[in-house]
Amino acid sequence: SNLVTLTVKTNPPLPMPHALSWSDGLPYSTQFGDVYFSIDSGLDESRHVFHQHNNLAARWQALPNQGQFIIGETGFGTGLNFLAAVELWLHTAPESARLYYLTVEKYPLGKIELKQALALWPALSELSQELIAAYPDQLETEIYPLNLFGGRVQLLLTIDDATAGFNQQLHRQHPDFITPKTRVDAWFLDGFAPSKNADMWSQALFDTLAQLSHKDTTFSTYTCAGNVRRGLTHAGFMVAKQKGFGRKREMLSGYFCPQTTAEAKTPKASAPMSNQDKATPWQAFKLNPAGRHACVIGAGIAGCHTARALAESGWQVTVIEANAAPARMASGNAQGIVYAKLSPKRHPQGRFNITSLNYAQASYRAFWREQPEYGAACGVLQLAAKDETAEQQSASAATLPTSLAHLVTAQQASTLAGFELTHGGLHLPNAGWLNPPALCTWLLQHPSITVVFNTKVEKFALIADARWRIISPDNTEMPCFEADLVVLCCAEQAKHFPQTQHLPLKTIRGQITQLPATETSKKLKKVVTQEGYLAPTFAGSHCVGATFNLKLNDPAARDEDHETNLGFLAHLSNFYGRDLPAVSTLQGRVGFRCTSPDYLPLVGPVARETEMASAYALLAKNAKRVIASAHHYWPNLLVNLAHGSRGLAYTPICAQYIAALANKLPVPIRQDLCEALNPARFLIRDIARGKR
Ligand code: SAM
Repeated sequence: SNLVTLTVKTNPPLPMPHALSWSDGLPYSTQFGDVYFSIDSGLDESRHVFHQHNNLAARWQALPNQGQFIIGETGFGTGLNFLAAVELWLHTAPESARLYYLTVEKYPLGKIELKQALALWPALSELSQELIAAYPDQLETEIYPLNLFGGRVQLLLTIDDATAGFNQQLHRQHPDFITPKTRVDAWFLDGFAPSKNADMWSQALFDTLAQLSHKDTTFSTYTCAGNVRRGLTHAGFMVAKQKGFGRKREMLSGYFCPQTTAEAKTPKASAPMSNQDKATPWQAFKLNPAGRHACVIGAGIAGCHTARALAESGWQVTVIEANAAPARMASGNAQGIVYAKLSPKRHPQGRFNITSLNYAQASYRAFWREQPEYGAACGVLQLAAKDETAEQQSASAATLPTSLAHLVTAQQASTLAGFELTHGGLHLPNAGWLNPPALCTWLLQHPSITVVFNTKVEKFALIADARWRIISPDNTEMPCFEADLVVLCCAEQAKHFPQTQHLPLKTIRGQITQLPATETSKKLKKVVTQEGYLAPTFAGSHCVGATFNLKLNDPAARDEDHETNLGFLAHLSNFYGRDLPAVSTLQGRVGFRCTSPDYLPLVGPVARETEMASAYALLAKNAKRVIASAHHYWPNLLVNLAHGSRGLAYTPICAQYIAALANKLPVPIRQDLCEALNPARFLIRDIARGKR
């Protein structure tokens, strides 16, 4: 594991199956020989131990508007602690504030068991229903960000061992260089009793908790075990015994005391760095915006999602767009498809596709509900015309929950689509289509977002190594303004700025054809894809597309591309029979997808090309060398680019990731996926190969 081989990663292991049984109607772990919650009253115990001893009600009442609070929990279990905290949050915190609940669970319950366990708490039933509906049907070793309760709560369900899971929220490259991305405000230390689960309650865990704590961080736990008390103290927490709940005599609570943690700052033998940690100093970057005003450049799908995610997390956002309306460039087709290629392999691309599609499907629900005329979660059929594709699809289906994708025969596909189809394939029941311009307009409707149209940014420059001055001379009212953070969401236009001209962005021309709807074609119920796609009717026509042309840059629609699109259509179904319109009468649209050499987007900080090349020059001689320095990235500059033809699927989670970085909130994807998206990955690879 060194920098050169950064694409060769071991996949995270699959989560361990849990061993749950029921004892007197209560969930019980046969594996650990312990109960999930107190037999007296789990709910009251949760309130006593975790709410009272973290002083949550008072702290939440005192939060400002748009404030945020982060809870970290070991062991999500049945979600009882989570729901109890949510209930209190909804009653005490300002409506505009947001709770981030970062929980790590090594042996997750299945949805059915979760439902069964939560049925024990009728008082929480309304809240439970929402959690159960959002709870993933299948859990792998990933982070699942779930936005719940009208956006007032984000649950970050991390499937992993507690220490490893919280470590995903740290940058840890070098003993002298540890930057947490996030700081937890209150810890709920749950998990089976230390006597029965010693592996979890380790010094490595306590040290990790310390690194993710700040001077006002509190913790509580129902246990009073001596090793927990000593371990927390050693890691820098002030620990006190309290009266326990019900029959339990004592419990522990306390707070983090930064001055006692000189030791905790240097990982001890108990928390050794893995080779992977050492191999990634280039992931270290500093984001320290002085204020809360962000400038997002570009109002396509990426820019609008980014602006919305920042606004929802308390930023004032100015979006600058060269065109007169949002989604005029590659995002401007009348119908965009929300889906991604699913692979049986769990390499970064395969995992990112699953993660982003899951998140996107959930995140568009509100749009689909509020703007039903502009799209639908109607389902997508990916047809397999070749044996090879069929084999790949059945391998994928075997690894995925049926709610994400399942196999269908040609006959089943035809019934689902309302049209006779010649091939079966993969059905993604919760995917669909939407009109990107309507989506973008909808996303921009937020009181903290201002959009400036018809304005091209000429350049932006750093002032006093912190803020950015953005210069756009063609806007006479606002030729220049300042922001604390700049996020570039302007696809290949990023190449025009000196800071980002080194990014390896390329464009791929794509042309779609608008086919007028007929009485028969209106019956199409699904998006159907193979090499191209065909969507159900919208505004009197269907989008068919899109062509794929790397070399061409003709912005005008061409007849031969319409022919190609009709060819896609002919492979899908005898959709039009004999009524196929003449090519010369067809309307179309050309867009240029912006993409990267490995087809993953570029999301995160921007390297200072020359500084990074000299800081890492030694890698060309010794690729294993550890170089710790964070000064080779531009401060307070992020990009969200290169989503190719998967913008609708990729951008929602990438926008969340950007907002997490900007706010020092828990990141919604695992470290290795962050690395796979790091815009500097190509530069580093070149340096290590001696090409710079
Ligand atoms: N907080 C839970 C609730 O509200 O239902 C109850 C937690 S239950 C007592 C303990 C949980 O810790 C179990 O779900 C168990 O699978 C989990 N767990 C045990 N060892 C763990 C470890 N090493 N890392 C993460 N979770 C662990």
